[in-house]
Amino acid sequence: MKNILMIGTGGTIASGQTAEGLAPELDPLQLLRDTPRVAQLCRVDCLQLYSLDSTNIRPCHWLGLARAIRERYDQYDGFVISHGTDTMAYTAAALSYLIQDCPKPIVLTGAQKPIWYDGTDSKRNLTDAFLYACRGCGGVQIVFNGKVILGTRARKTRTKSFNAFSSIDYPETAVFR
Ligand code: ASP
Repeated sequence: MKNILMIGTGGTIASGQTAEGLAPELDPLQLLRDTPRVAQLCRVDCLQLYSLDSTNIRPCHWLGLARAIRERYDQYDGFVISHGTDTMAYTAAALSYLIQDCPKPIVLTGAQKPIWYDGTDSKRNLTDAFLYACRGCGGVQIVFNGKVILGTRARKTRTKSFNAFSSIDYPETAVFR
């Protein structure tokens, strides 16, 4: 079985209902509790790095993510990062340049609806992200709504649709059927 590190950064996928509306508060262990299929695919360690709406992700957070991966690189076969959708494509691009020629998969995913929401896209996206991290090619990719998109080509093109990300001027890396 492959060893995968899951890094939590916040976003809607990890949000709970608070007095001020949705706010990121769930950690990767809580997300995985709702996604039992992942335990059948691989061994997972969890690291909660940030609990942020991704509109508050700054370059210092990109550097922190790259450092967290570099420090643990040898211990894992792949990495899954849960992240808010609004700036996921920017983080994916930044990581692509911060960690170049990487033979191990670094997969970002998130969701339009929190993991506890009826009909959420969180569970599918998270399971697909782990499937790709276990079996996919190296480098930074976004896995979302059944598509795998190269980190330097992804853009959020829809605000509410589950089909939120597109690969710009480049074919998708893979699709899930
Ligand atoms: N505002 C949220 C974020 O980017 C939206 C989402 O995750 O879908 O963190």
